[in-house]
Amino acid sequence: MAISKKPKVSTPVHKHKPLSMYEAVLARFNQAADIYKLPEDVAATLRVPQKQVKVSLPVMMDNGKVKVFEGYRIIHSTYLGPSKGGIRFALDVNDDEVKALAAWMTYKCAVAGLPLGGAKGGITCDPRKMSPGELERLTREYTLAMCEVFGPDRDIPAPDMGTGKREMAWIVDEYSKIHRHYQPGVVTGKPITLGGSRGREAATGRGVMIHTLEAMKKMGIDRKKSTAAVQGFGNVGSYAATLLRSKNINVVAISDYTGAYYNERGIDLDKALQHQKKHGNTLEDFPGGELITNEELLTLDVDVLVPAALQNQISADIAKNVKAKLIVEGANGPTEVEADEILHNKGVIVVPDILANSGGVTVSYFEWVQNKQGYYWKEEEVNNKHDVYMQQAFEQVWYNSKQHKTNLRLGAYITAFKRLEKAIRYRGIY
Ligand code: GLU
Repeated sequence: MAISKKPKVSTPVHKHKPLSMYEAVLARFNQAADIYKLPEDVAATLRVPQKQVKVSLPVMMDNGKVKVFEGYRIIHSTYLGPSKGGIRFALDVNDDEVKALAAWMTYKCAVAGLPLGGAKGGITCDPRKMSPGELERLTREYTLAMCEVFGPDRDIPAPDMGTGKREMAWIVDEYSKIHRHYQPGVVTGKPITLGGSRGREAATGRGVMIHTLEAMKKMGIDRKKSTAAVQGFGNVGSYAATLLRSKNINVVAISDYTGAYYNERGIDLDKALQHQKKHGNTLEDFPGGELITNEELLTLDVDVLVPAALQNQISADIAKNVKAKLIVEGANGPTEVEADEILHNKGVIVVPDILANSGGVTVSYFEWVQNKQGYYWKEEEVNNKHDVYMQQAFEQVWYNSKQHKTNLRLGAYITAFKRLEKAIRYRGIY
């Protein structure tokens, strides 16, 4: 009797293996390099990071046991200046993800016209499950391990997911102790009393707002009659939502990892912020809107969709059902590669991450300049300068995408290539 082979019922069927985050960066890079005809020597130089550092960080936990964490800092490029980019504390941090985020920082700084290169750091950990003491010891241990990588004229970290001004204060303190003098310019996103910049905390959200307005002008959308859905209510999403609201754009949906909330008449954002404060920094059980799914939020019939949470949120399947006319990417990498073409063919305008969320690093640059000057600007001055940088960046990306008959994402890469190619040529490859 023939032995029948049992079918493997549990094997998931993937048409093709999903791209890793760095593969997704390269896919877009290669598309843009083809269109722009980026010379191969420059392309080869930019396809790989300049330096990758991985460290093991033993930390004494509150229970008296030692836990060893993995930490990364990846310098993608320093052609335009010292490298710049945040530090992420999250469970999914790995070298592929940090590498992708570092490369995006190179393009982001170049698009915004900043004299900075790109880098990213991260520690694989769950900051929500750690005490402030554990987080402080981990952050200081990481700073010590990276004391030869960081530097005000070498590599300048900043906040990213899971980190904020508190962690930046620990970094500046530890780094200054090691170097025996105060070095505020080693990190940005610091508390204002330690040399932080006014306007930095709101800057990424502010940039999202400016890019939304610029795109609406080009598209002929009347903002006073428009609606928006914002995915994510952290540093980027909460400021973006509030600032869009201040420009009379009706924010009808918000979300965080606990759920999404929809209110046809508009979400009361002050109430949402108060609720978040009272409920352990979450929107859980927020009474100001109907509970909907994440997918429903992403496919709502609104004018503007702002994904400001995690990467890989808009897949090809979601893209097919997106009803927004405009997507402004507050997060890094929220749209998957296959979704780009679907959205483009549907006529959806996507302001890409490396342009849309570059407001944060732009004000980081201003913070660094103020640290160098030892002279601090008023919030209005910071905001005005920020808005000018963002409007110029938007215009250039729009122009380059029209010139090369492509979407704004590839237009943004092309804008960055123009600056990077010049810098690489002037500095020379030997
Ligand atoms: N982490 C932020 C980003 O992804 C800010 C980086 C910075 O300010 O250096 O753009």
